[in-house]
Amino acid sequence: MTYELSKHAHDLATALGVALYSDLDDESYAQANVLSGQWRVDTVPVTDVRTYYIALHELGHVANPPAGTVSEFPDELRAWLWAVESALVMPDNETRVFMACKLAGYRSLRSEFHWRGQPEVNDLYDALVASLR
Ligand SMILES: [Zn+2]
Repeated sequence: MTYELSKHAHDLATALGVALYSDLDDESYAQANVLSGQWRVDTVPVTDVRTYYIALHELGHVANPPAGTVSEFPDELRAWLWAVESALVMPDNETRVFMACKLAGYRSLRSEFHWRGQPEVNDLYDALVASLR
């Protein structure tokens, strides 16, 4: 199963035209960046559903590039939604808890003032929750 998930992440990267490197030791450094006009995603090896979703989340940033220079709460919602919609398997319980923690972190850390008053953010959030049912 792990092999299929890893291969799928790389297939999605190929379809998006992004270089995917899955050799990080520390998942907190997983990120999508534009370097010299070319998207690059760095993540940890895909060893289970959760690490598969980490890779897909970063690819989701490529599929839905942020409007600003810094990724904000709506961008994170879009990236997770894209991951759920693109994945071969639904997130397991460990992955759902992980996603919920990440989303709570984005909100409390820096994005609250930006996403409040943006109705589409509520729609995105509702779509993400609905996609997990
Ligand atoms: Zn993100």
